[in-house]
Amino acid sequence: MSDPTRPPGPRIIAVANQKGGVGKTTTAINLSAALAEEGLNVLLVDLDPQGNASTGLGIDPARRGMTTYDLLIEDADLADVIRTTRVEGVWLCPATTDLSSADIELVSNEKRSFLLRDALRQPAIDGYGFDYVLIDCPPSLSLLTVNAMVAAHSVLVPLQAEFYALEGLSQLMLTIREVRHSANPDLRIEGVVLTMYDSRNNLSQQVEADARANLGELVYRTVVPRNVRLSEAPSFAVPVLTYDTMSKGAIAYRALADEIISRHGGRTQGG
Ligand code: ADP
Ligand code: MG
Repeated sequence: MSDPTRPPGPRIIAVANQKGGVGKTTTAINLSAALAEEGLNVLLVDLDPQGNASTGLGIDPARRGMTTYDLLIEDADLADVIRTTRVEGVWLCPATTDLSSADIELVSNEKRSFLLRDALRQPAIDGYGFDYVLIDCPPSLSLLTVNAMVAAHSVLVPLQAEFYALEGLSQLMLTIREVRHSANPDLRIEGVVLTMYDSRNNLSQQVEADARANLGELVYRTVVPRNVRLSEAPSFAVPVLTYDTMSKGAIAYRALADEIISRHGGRTQGG
């Protein structure tokens, strides 16, 4: 894996949408696994107190040890928080419910929006050779999500193919604009991925048409179909790529990974 031409630093992508249940965690887990299948090294940062990404990758809440909370609030060393998963090429910063108090605990901290960014800049991160860092955000535009946007190069937005899907986007875009102004001028939108798409459903088609008309190139060609395998995989604590490797869900996340990789010219550029 050592490549002298390989540029330093991972590409950091926040997976965000303030609506719950739109496929953020499913996308974070399975996109991580799909990128790893391509031989890339991926760190998944669980930034949701619900810890679904951690559970979905087989990290038992009782055995999480040091977590994203320690990283943000206690200034823990990355090396003490990052752990391997059963998916080769995917590492995890796990989360537990203690992260839910972070917003309140950080109110008076001047650096409160920069904690994740600074944590991911610890020199120890170089040792892992991560190509991508994916941050699984909570379903809100809270300080945690702002931390993700300040730390990230870009925001990947899962958009559930259902009524009102586009309505919430303006609020998300506003937050992205605010973060650009206040802390991270280079923050980009990585892309918008339609999730839980049902091609037999007129509504799915309508949402897709609206999204493509309004957002153009930002919308990936890949749409993630509604696929029961995707919802079953977390209870077996593996990505769908492992659980049912030829399922429609697995195929879709591989295609999404290919689109993302091709936008960044193969290897990531970071910085
Ligand atoms: P979020 O992280 O945005 O809250 P999740 O990824 O947890 O959303 O998805 C919400 C629920 O929908 C979960 O039960 C998940 O398994 C299921 N789900 C997500 N994507 C799909 C899909 N494409 N097809 C079927 N079920 C899905
Ligand atoms: Mg989630």
